[in-house]
Amino acid sequence: MKSAAVIVAAGGGTRAGGEIPKQYRNLGQTTMLTWSVSAFEHACVDPIIVVIDAAHRQFFDVLNLDARSVAGGASRTASVRAGLEALRQDGVDFVFIHDAARPGVSTKILTDLTAALEAGFAGAAPALPSADALKAITEEGAVTQDLNRAGLVRVQTPQAFRYSAIAEAYARAPASNTYEDDLAVARAAGYAVTTIAGDPRLMKATYPEDFAILERLLGETTSHTAGSVRVGNGVDAHRFGVGDHVTLCGIRIQHDKGLVGHSDADAGWHALTDAILGALAIGDIGDHFPPTDPQWRGADSAIFLAHAAKLAREAHARITHVDVTLLCEKPKIAPHREMMRARTAEVLSLPINCISIKATTTEKMGFLGREEGLAAQATATLMF
Ligand code: MG
Repeated sequence: MKSAAVIVAAGGGTRAGGEIPKQYRNLGQTTMLTWSVSAFEHACVDPIIVVIDAAHRQFFDVLNLDARSVAGGASRTASVRAGLEALRQDGVDFVFIHDAARPGVSTKILTDLTAALEAGFAGAAPALPSADALKAITEEGAVTQDLNRAGLVRVQTPQAFRYSAIAEAYARAPASNTYEDDLAVARAAGYAVTTIAGDPRLMKATYPEDFAILERLLGETTSHTAGSVRVGNGVDAHRFGVGDHVTLCGIRIQHDKGLVGHSDADAGWHALTDAILGALAIGDIGDHFPPTDPQWRGADSAIFLAHAAKLAREAHARITHVDVTLLCEKPKIAPHREMMRARTAEVLSLPINCISIKATTTEKMGFLGREEGLAAQATATLMF
C-alpha cells in the first residue's frame, strides 16, 4: 500500500507568540515543521505534501525539506482540500492528514493508523481520554451540563484515510462549511471511522509555554524510545532439480530446471523472511514454519513473508526498507526485477521505493557457478 502525507502548515500561529509563524520556529535543534516531515519520511511515507501560506514561502524554502509544497486556502478545510488535490496523480492508497503544530509523530502511531485502515475503516485518528471532568458552558462560563467523560475522547492528528474516500468526502463537502477535523468530513460523507490509542507527545503547540513542554517531551523521545533502528539479515539457498520454472521473490520464471524445497523454494523471500525475523530477534523461518510440517509442502512463500510482516506490526515495528540480493548464473533476474519489487511491496504493504532487489553471479565459481542451485541474501531495516 502506498501512503502519502498532507501536512497543514498554512496557519499564522499568532497565539504562540514570536516573530515568525510557530511551525517555522525552532523546537530543539530543528523547526517544528521539520519534526513532522522527518517523522513521515522515516516511515517511508512518500510523497509528502506541505500546505503553506504563500506569504511564508521564504521560511519553507530555506528548510530544504524532502517534500512538495502547495499554497493553502483561507481555512483549514480549504488547505486540506488543496493538499489532497495535489496528490491526485500520485496513485496513493492511504493518506495521513496532519497539523504541523503537532511535531511528536511516532512510527508506532503511523503503524497503528495503517492497521486500522487495513482492517477496513475509511479513516482513523489517535485519541486520548480526558483526565479532567468535562462540562458544557455558556459564553460567560456558566455550566449548563455535566458531560460523561467515559464516552468522550480528545482527537489528535495525524488522521489517516483511504485516499479515495477522503478525496470524495472533500469533493462532496460544501465549500462554505468548516469542519472540526478531517474525521468529521469523512463522517459527513457517510464513511466509517475509528480511533486508535493516542500519544501525549502529539500535543499541539498553541501557546508560548507549549514549546518548552514539547522540547522536553520530544527530547525524551529522541533519547529513549523513538528512532530505535534494528537491522536483520537472512541467507538461503536451494538446489536445482527437475522442473520447468523457479519462483523468486514471488515471481514465476520459466527455466529448464526447478528448485527443490519443501515449500515453493523461493530463496529470495525465505532470506527476506529470515531478515525480518532477525531484526525482531524471534528465531528463523524454520522455527515458525517447520519443514517437517506437511501443511507447508509446496506452500506459497508469501505466507511466510506476510507472517513476518504481521509479527513486526505486532511488535510495533515498522519495516522501513528491505534489500534482497539473488545469487545465480541463470535464470536472468533483470527482466523480472520490477515485478519482484512490486509483488514484494504488495505482500509487505510498503511503497515500492522501500524495496531493493538486486542480482549477481559468482563468475562461474563454486556451487552457484556450477549451477547446482541458487542462493539469496537479504537485509531488513525496522524502526521501533
Ligand atoms: Mg528456503
